[in-house]
Amino acid sequence: MKFGGTSVGSAERIRSVAELVRERRARRVVAVVSALGGVTDLLIRGARLALARDAAWEGVAREVFSRHHAVVTTLVDGRRQDPLLAHLDALVTELRSLYTGVYNLEELTLRTLDAISGIGERVSSVIVAAALEAGDVPASAVDARRVVVTDESFGRAQPLMAETEARVRDEVVPLVERGVVPVVCGYIGATRTGVATTLGRGGSDFTASIVGALLPAEEIQIWTDVDGMMTVDPRVVPGAKVIPEVSFAEAAELAYFGAKVLHPATIKPAVERGIPVRVLNTLNPSAPGTLIAAASGDGPAEPRAIAFKKGITVVLISQPRMLMAYGFVARVFEVFDRHRTPVDLIATSEVSISLTVDDPETVPAVRTDLAALGEVQVLGPMAIISVVGRGFLRRAGLAARIFASLREVNVVMISFGASDVNLSLVVAEDQAEKAVRLLHHEFFEDGRG
Ligand code: ADP
Ligand code: ASP
Ligand code: MG
Repeated sequence: MKFGGTSVGSAERIRSVAELVRERRARRVVAVVSALGGVTDLLIRGARLALARDAAWEGVAREVFSRHHAVVTTLVDGRRQDPLLAHLDALVTELRSLYTGVYNLEELTLRTLDAISGIGERVSSVIVAAALEAGDVPASAVDARRVVVTDESFGRAQPLMAETEARVRDEVVPLVERGVVPVVCGYIGATRTGVATTLGRGGSDFTASIVGALLPAEEIQIWTDVDGMMTVDPRVVPGAKVIPEVSFAEAAELAYFGAKVLHPATIKPAVERGIPVRVLNTLNPSAPGTLIAAASGDGPAEPRAIAFKKGITVVLISQPRMLMAYGFVARVFEVFDRHRTPVDLIATSEVSISLTVDDPETVPAVRTDLAALGEVQVLGPMAIISVVGRGFLRRAGLAARIFASLREVNVVMISFGASDVNLSLVVAEDQAEKAVRLLHHEFFEDGRG
C-alpha cells in the first residue's frame, strides 16, 4: 500500500491511513509513504535559496521543522512524542548542515540535492509507523536507503534489482513474517556504497512497484486523492470519469504523457512479474478505483483517456540539401544522444525533422551542435496532448474526430502510427487546457465516445 503526499498531509489524514492499513492487516501489508504533501518542494526551495546565498533558507528549515512538529504533537501524545521529536530534530540539523554547505560553497550538485530532497520521506515514514503503533498495529519505519539499491544517476536513479531483492529479503520480509508492518520511505534509495539517491519526482510510486515486485506482493495499491485513473486530470476537467480497468500499456502511456497520478516508471517492475496495480482513493476508500492489469487490449478500439504535459520545447531542423540523403536522421539523433537529451515525439518530412524535448536544460547546447547540420528553429513553451486508448490503427475516422474537435486550436506537430495506443499532438502551452477540454468533450461527455 503506497500513500502519496496528500494522503499523509496532516495528522488527521495520517490517522485515516493508519486505519486503512489496520483494516487490511490480515493481508500482510507493506506500506510505502511519500513525504508530507508539499514538503519535497519546500526542501528543494531551501536548497535553491541557499545556492543563491539567500538567508531565507533558514526560514525553510524552520518551516520543515514546524510543519512536522505540529503533526507529531497532534498525532501522538505524551511520552510517545519524544523519540519522534528527537528524530525530527536530528533530521532538521542534518538539513541545516546541508544547506550551510550549499550556501558556503555556492554549489548544488544533483548528489547534494538528492540528500536534501529525500529528507521528507525519512521523517514521514517514522511518523506513519508511530501512528500505526498508536493504533495498536505493530509497525517499523524502514529507511529505503538500506533497501532500494540504485545506480548513480542522481535525481533519477534506476534500481539495481538483484541487489535490491536481497535487501528486501533481509530488511522487509522478516518484519512481515513477525506480523510487523514495514513502513518504507518512498522516493529514496542509495548507491552500492551508500550514497543517497532519489528516483525522480513522484518516485514513491516507483518504490512501491519495485518493493511490491520483489516481495513479491499479491497486489500493489497506489492510494492517492482521486478515485483512480481518470479520463483526464480532474483538476482540469471537472467532468473526468474513473476508468475501471486499463492495460499496463495504456497506463504507461498515460503516465509518461503527463497523467500525474502515476510515476511513468511505475508499471515496469510490476508488469514484468504480472502483479496487478490498483489506484485507490484514501478520501473514498470504498470506491473500486482503477485496476491496471496485464491482460486487456482486446476491448473495442477507442480512446480511453486524455493526458497532457506542459513545458515542452519543439526543435525543428531542416536541410533542403538532404533531400533523400541517408544518414541525416542518424546524425541528428547523434547530437541528442551526445547531450543525453531524451526525445519524446518525432515527425519527419523529406527535408526536415521536428522533435520534442521535455527538459529545456540542454536545448541551447543541442541547438549549437545541430546548427552544423541544417537550419534550426526552437519553439516553446509548448504542450503535448495525448489521446490514449486501444486499437487506434484499426479505427477509421478517429483522426478526423480528433482534428475536427480541435478546429479552433493551432496544432504545431502530430505523432501517430508509432503505436496503436497513442495519438499525440503539440500545441502552444497556453492552448493546452482548451485543447484538453475540447477532446474530452468530444470523446467522453454527453454520452459520446
Ligand atoms: P500523490 O501525492 O498521491 O502521489 P499526485 O499528486 O502525484 O498524488 O497524483 C494525483 C493527482 O494526479 C490527482 O490529484 C490529479 O489531479 C492528477 N491527475 C492527472 N491526470 C490524472 C488522471 N488521468 N487521472 C487521475 N488523476 C490525474
Ligand atoms: N515526495 C516525492 C515528490 O514529491 C515523491 C512522491 O511524492 O512520490 O516527488
Ligand atoms: Mg505522485
